[in-house]
Amino acid sequence: THLPNSLQGRDIRFLMHPVTNARAHERTGPLVIARGEGVRVFDEDGNAYIEGMAGLWSVALGFSEPRLVEAATRQMERLPYMHLFSSRGQEPSIALAEKLVQMTPEGLDRVHFTNSGSEANDTVIKMVWFWNNAIGRPEKKKFIARLKGYHGITIGSGSLTGLPGNHKGFDLPLDFVRHVSTPHHWREAHEGESEEAFSDRLAAELEAVILAEGPGTVAAFIAEPLVGAGGVIEPPAGYWRKVQEVCRRHDVLIVADEVINGFGRTGRMFACETYDIAPDILVLSKQITSSYQPLAAIVFSDRIYQGIADGSERLGTFGHGFTTAGHPVATAVALENLAIIEERGLVEHAAAMGRILQAGLRRHADHPHVGEVRGTGLIAAVEFVEDKAAKQGSTPPGRLAQAVAAAAQRNGLLLRPIGEAVCFCPPLIITEAEMEELLERFARAMGEVFGA
Ligand code: PMP
Repeated sequence: THLPNSLQGRDIRFLMHPVTNARAHERTGPLVIARGEGVRVFDEDGNAYIEGMAGLWSVALGFSEPRLVEAATRQMERLPYMHLFSSRGQEPSIALAEKLVQMTPEGLDRVHFTNSGSEANDTVIKMVWFWNNAIGRPEKKKFIARLKGYHGITIGSGSLTGLPGNHKGFDLPLDFVRHVSTPHHWREAHEGESEEAFSDRLAAELEAVILAEGPGTVAAFIAEPLVGAGGVIEPPAGYWRKVQEVCRRHDVLIVADEVINGFGRTGRMFACETYDIAPDILVLSKQITSSYQPLAAIVFSDRIYQGIADGSERLGTFGHGFTTAGHPVATAVALENLAIIEERGLVEHAAAMGRILQAGLRRHADHPHVGEVRGTGLIAAVEFVEDKAAKQGSTPPGRLAQAVAAAAQRNGLLLRPIGEAVCFCPPLIITEAEMEELLERFARAMGEVFGA
């Protein structure tokens, strides 16, 4: 294990890293990142990397935005903490809730904060259960989610997540969840099936599951407008129109999880605008603070709020909340972060830089080992195949994506291998020159793995 200077003499074995193969990690150790500047991070030996994944799909403003530091410092000095339980409050959270209601699509009028995306989705489950109890339909409790959807890692949100790797060893998912197909046209469509026909088939599948369970037992459908951590999967044409029709027909709530998609990632402020989705509940996190502080927000309809509010009078207090939910330092940072995104026109900028990213990556589409290049705006994936005609992945699974990500790292570019794909999600502030550099480093990595 290579240890940087700052860790010489330290025993790195005390820290068990999340989402990590502990034995493999003991052999290789971590890449220790010491500092960041703009879209770049530097390891302890001073090597620079373009952070092609913006941390974990999240550092919208890059790694050195002084105004976020100042906003945090100001709030720390004024009031470092006050909770939001019962009748206590603080100004930044109240102001951020107002801002989010103004920014988000029509019909979302109330906000509830948590510390993380997982907590937010767990809270959504409990809000929906409490609401249905309050309005006299306690049997309407099931959630339908999708394979390859990612909604978090706690017992509840981890059950919504549709990735076997997050279930095995944990006896998940719990049985209030049903999973339907992932809308990945390239991988899942039948031979010759159009995107519209594929979307029809998936909407019919969703409706069949609702009918089989009984619409009176199905509370909500939760989905990412564009799948993120499952490997960057864009919805096929017609998909969102058709599944929304099915949900409305059976009084099933639509929960849009924009923890990755939100705040400009797809080239619009929210992916609900990109794909014309009218959710009852919208879940936001990550880019809400550029991840300088932990924060998530649930933005939801007045209809749900009123039911919960009436329920709190009849059933008793909505007995759910976290000590640091809506932490004033986090909400103050979020307000500043959103102000900067608006002032600098970073959503339009993301759309413009996204066009360069998407076009640049699609130049590799004809490569014999590239199965699919996909994505929109500043989120993309390149999926590798051993056999292009058969769309067959590598052996062992993920070998090619891991090799390309490792080569990219040697070339000063951090990417995330997910399954057979490497994923791209650079900070929104990336410049055209930095984007060209990113694409060049990726091309070099491809050359190293596959030969020029
Ligand atoms: N939803 C989505 C769409 C996510 O991508 C993630 C995290 N990658 C989560 C929820 C969970 O967020 P957290 O890791 O903050 O708990």
